[in-house]
Amino acid sequence: MKNDSDQFASTKLDRVDDISDELLESAMRQALEVAMRARRPFGAALFDITRRRVAYCRPNTTREDHDPFAHAEMNVLRAAAQSDSDLSNHILLSTAEPCPMCASAAIIGQVKAIAFGTSIATLVQLGWRQIQLPAATVIAHGSPRIEVRPHFLESETDLFYQRYQTQPYGGEQ
Ligand SMILES: [Zn+2]
Repeated sequence: MKNDSDQFASTKLDRVDDISDELLESAMRQALEVAMRARRPFGAALFDITRRRVAYCRPNTTREDHDPFAHAEMNVLRAAAQSDSDLSNHILLSTAEPCPMCASAAIIGQVKAIAFGTSIATLVQLGWRQIQLPAATVIAHGSPRIEVRPHFLESETDLFYQRYQTQPYGGEQ
């Protein structure tokens, strides 16, 4: 049961809880679409809570850019930062659990929340080289404390990575 102050806060339209699962699932599917077309199959979206729409969506471009830091989450956060976007009213969605670099960037950028599909543990099981530090652990050591929604649309992202694994490529995130 929400108290009066919660109800007042919700009128400001900046609460993650106010965003329907349908909108966030749609945002995640956009990230999944760019991941499907990427040379490294990872995608991220930044959802604008105020405008209730995806503001930016980017794939991993480490191969194309010869930039080992060009993870999907870094690319989408950079795109928003270059537009002077206030990230504190954005949700970062990623097809896979953000690595420590990307989780840290989300804290530094002060995004409101993170939602991700496939876990680092599952990626490792599938043969991806990963730093095995959960995003929630990185977030727990940061400030502001970002809300984390793991396993978001995981049924679809896991299926994507399982199918990808049958292809003749692979490697690190
Ligand atoms: Zn990363």
